[in-house]
Amino acid sequence: MFNKILHNITQVSADLFCKLLGQPSVSNLKTQLHEKNVQIQQLEEQERTLYRVISKIRASLELETIFRTATKESCKLLRVERIAVYRFYENWGGEFVSDFEFAEPGWDDVEPLEKNLVWNDTYIQEHQGGRYRNNETLVVSDVYSAGLSQCHLEILEQFHIRAYATAPIFVGKKLWGVLAAYQHSQPHEWNKLEIQFLSQIATQLGFAVKQAELLAQAEQKAAELHKANQQQEILFNLVAEIRGSLNLDTLFKTTVREVRKALRADRVVIFRFDPESNYTCGEFVSENVLPDYDSVIAIKVKDHCFGEKYAVAYHEGRIQVLKDVYQAGLRDCHLVVLEEFQIKAQIVVPLMKGKTLWGLLCVHQCCCSREWKTSEIQFIRQLAAQFNVALEHSKLLTQFRSQANQLAQANHALELANSQLEKLSKLDGLTNIANRRCFDEFLEREWNRLKRTGNYLSLVLFDIDYFKDYNDYYGHLAGDKCLIQVARAAKVVLKRPTDLLARYGGEEFIVLLPNTNESGAIKVTNLIHKSIEELKICHTKKNSFQDFLTVSLGVATQIPTAKSSAQELIDAADKALYKAKEQGRNRWVCAAKLQVQSDA
Ligand code: GH3
Ligand code: MG
Ligand code: MG
Repeated sequence: MFNKILHNITQVSADLFCKLLGQPSVSNLKTQLHEKNVQIQQLEEQERTLYRVISKIRASLELETIFRTATKESCKLLRVERIAVYRFYENWGGEFVSDFEFAEPGWDDVEPLEKNLVWNDTYIQEHQGGRYRNNETLVVSDVYSAGLSQCHLEILEQFHIRAYATAPIFVGKKLWGVLAAYQHSQPHEWNKLEIQFLSQIATQLGFAVKQAELLAQAEQKAAELHKANQQQEILFNLVAEIRGSLNLDTLFKTTVREVRKALRADRVVIFRFDPESNYTCGEFVSENVLPDYDSVIAIKVKDHCFGEKYAVAYHEGRIQVLKDVYQAGLRDCHLVVLEEFQIKAQIVVPLMKGKTLWGLLCVHQCCCSREWKTSEIQFIRQLAAQFNVALEHSKLLTQFRSQANQLAQANHALELANSQLEKLSKLDGLTNIANRRCFDEFLEREWNRLKRTGNYLSLVLFDIDYFKDYNDYYGHLAGDKCLIQVARAAKVVLKRPTDLLARYGGEEFIVLLPNTNESGAIKVTNLIHKSIEELKICHTKKNSFQDFLTVSLGVATQIPTAKSSAQELIDAADKALYKAKEQGRNRWVCAAKLQVQSDA
């Protein structure tokens, strides 16, 4: 008891002493210490929550999830009735993009600050973000004692807001939006830590939005790249096809098909100007169109204002890109043409053939207007350039083809002339059988061939008897006629394709018989002799009993060898013929045996 009293006296005197010195009393210090401890614990708890919230926010790159997590967790932690994320528009108006409420039942009839609700605060609009621009937080514990303007109060009342704390959300350096905590049912004294927490979450939301934006940009870029890649691939294949295609019709068809597919357009057409029309007339020569829209193929178009207004520009490589034909300030005459073909948006690129504007490649959107992408325009531009090369190719090809045709015709004529010449050079002009030159070549070839194969080669040389007299008596012309008849009569005897009858000179003939031995040659000799005899050409000679034209023949046969020559064979036949003449004519003599055939 005494101790307790003493303790109290000590305590009181210590407090008194501290008071005298102007220092806090011990009991005060204890209370302060306790409060500080509570604050530290609260701070730690808040730090942990903040960390948890931030981790959750960072776990997602999808904005909706980020906002939902942030509002829900903040709502729980701050124990306020609503947390919302508000986003500014370009004009500093804005809308709520996410909110989470813990409001008591009964607040449902309050117009909710829910997603997509637009809230334009004229003050903030006028001041382009107002104090939020300076990264300030706005805190109101009770809207009725904060000295707010009447109009501001009216808006807050509309949403039954009694207290609020708001922190700006910055994305990079740009004021993006506001994170707002609302209390509906009663005023709320915001403490420093709560405000700090709200600010920190807002800062993290800024980072998350930035991340998500970067990701979205990267994704869009990747998608664009992918699309551009696809278009490049189509372009590459098309270019290959265009270059490979020498047929313009195929080229047109492929182009319109692939371009429509690549751009997912409603219709792609190739329009060709009538060369004489000065760009006022033309027709669609190829198209690829969705079944929902009209076909324009083969339709003739007359457009007088095109020639005046556009032809020059297209000539200079201009491309027309219309995202909405009604917003493009086109002339009525132009609109009429576009409407006729249901065109709502289009890209038109010139197709050049050399330096001439040949036609147009048109990509039509018929369902609605269309925002054309730069990559799409680029795609069409590149394609048209390739197409122009192909047109130029086809022009050159046509020229080349006609030149080649002419050349082929000339070649053919030349070949014909050459072969005729060749034939003529080997034929005897009078009798139309082989001439001496032809015989010489043929003999040499056959001589060498038979030398290799070791086969017989026979020659029959024959000469018309007393032909000088014939000429003298019947005249030279009759002599010529006679030579023709003799040649024909000898020729019909020869059956093998390799046998050759030639005019050896004057009224002397020679027969070359490859693969024919002596007896075979004698058979042929007899047949020739007879065949001419059967012509029964009158030839009354002065000192002769014969009434008809006859011949004398000399036969020679040999297997060609390296030691002998073709000339020797001719000489042998010649000798035999001489013998036949000597022995009275109208007979044959065989060189080897000098066998004499008696008169028939
Ligand atoms: P032989 O029985 O000895 O042969 O007496 P031949 O009169 O026939 O004498 P030779 O063979 O020497 O005479 C050749 C004659 O053939 C000379 C020439 O008038 C005639 N002759 C040669 N070539 C031609 C020709 O192309 N046309 C005509 N009509 N006569 C020709
Ligand atoms: Mg003669
Ligand atoms: Mg003669």
